[in-house]
Amino acid sequence: MINCEECNHKFTFFDRLKSIFTGKLKCKNCSSKYVPRANFNRFLYFFLVIFLNNSYIISSNYFNISYFGVNSFDKKLFLSIVIFLILLPSYDLFFYRFNHYKKVD
Ligand SMILES: [Zn+2]
Repeated sequence: MINCEECNHKFTFFDRLKSIFTGKLKCKNCSSKYVPRANFNRFLYFFLVIFLNNSYIISSNYFNISYFGVNSFDKKLFLSIVIFLILLPSYDLFFYRFNHYKKVD
């Protein structure tokens, strides 16, 4: 969803950034609120992020490869959590064209 369904206001990057913290995408113009609807693309993205990150951590530990220059398992685990926290919300920021929203208010 690029524009508000009610008033056609184009959502900005900051509107989307705010929606990560509040959980709702709010229109500045008419104050309609939207929540992302679960869909296959979203599921696929989350699955790939989690699966690839985990499998890389496990295999890099097994084959003793560094993960972004980090070698100890504890630090890799911490780094992977940081990467999750960056990658998971980025779906709503950058791939919103594939996202479907439901009006809640
Ligand atoms: Zn609106």
